Amino acid sequence: MAEIVDREPKVILQDSKSSKTSKPTTVYIWDMDETLILLKSLLDGTYAGVFNGLKDTRKCFEIGKHWENHILQLSDDFFFYEQIENYNEPFLDALSEYDDGRDLSNYDFKNDGLSSPYDDPNKRKLAYRHRIIAEKYSQGLHKVLDEHKIKLWNDLYSLTDSYTDGWLSSAHAVLEQTSEKTNLSASDLSAEVAPASIPTICKNINVLVTSGSLIPSLAKCLLYRLDDVITANNVYSSWEVGKFQCFSWIKERFGGPDVRFCAIGDGIEECEAAEAMTWPFIKIDLRPTSQHRFPGLTMDMIRSYINVIYGSPDAEEEQIEE
Ligand SMILES: [Mg+2]
Repeated sequence: MAEIVDREPKVILQDSKSSKTSKPTTVYIWDMDETLILLKSLLDGTYAGVFNGLKDTRKCFEIGKHWENHILQLSDDFFFYEQIENYNEPFLDALSEYDDGRDLSNYDFKNDGLSSPYDDPNKRKLAYRHRIIAEKYSQGLHKVLDEHKIKLWNDLYSLTDSYTDGWLSSAHAVLEQTSEKTNLSASDLSAEVAPASIPTICKNINVLVTSGSLIPSLAKCLLYRLDDVITANNVYSSWEVGKFQCFSWIKERFGGPDVRFCAIGDGIEECEAAEAMTWPFIKIDLRPTSQHRFPGLTMDMIRSYINVIYGSPDAEEEQIEE
């Protein structure tokens, strides 16, 4: 089977352009805020508001504030955010052509003189930082946070998940289902591969397109525990370029004869961009009476939206057999 190794370690994507499997690959394009995670609606009380007094508004705000602090602290402490917040790029690999591959283990990030103008030498310094950020992302937070911070983070995640009736964990569960991950068995691999490095095959691809800036969005992915279902190089910031541009890049990057796309978000911008691409779009709605929220959204619902645009893959198989 033809496969390509994604830039993240241990995750293999089926080669969408030459896949011979009968079912198509689906690229899911997720919005982040108020779709996979909750933040703004906690901070401004909208989340509690839609429950008509059933949810504690003060607690809602406090939870949001704690998340905001964690995101900023992680961005500053580990992702150079104070140095690079004015140089937002739409994705981490955007500057890879400037990265000369130099060993950065003793590189002095505090004194390398990163500053304006945004010329080639400064782009190289930013590309180095992006490389370190991608490495830290793939290692996960347990490698960078101390025990005390891990406990605070775990407690906040559990508190938020319980306050929101499982929004975070059920969104994560759906992302696991959309990726259709399976571990390769040892018999699929050559004898030299150590069992600890047995990779995972992802049938489908989860991509994130957020209107937030890139570095805090990567911090959010880690803190809200999305890093095992969305790789660092699949996170896009539409802050300057807009969602339509990001969707176009994604189509160019992943598109092929057996590839389908589906966008999911709560905002009008992603809705219009999906329409322009003729992709199915699922609108997330915070209200507890809606099914298009978490918990609520299921794979069956997602498939039905995709089938409206692309037709059912099972129907295609039946036609071929006839
Ligand atoms: Mg949103």
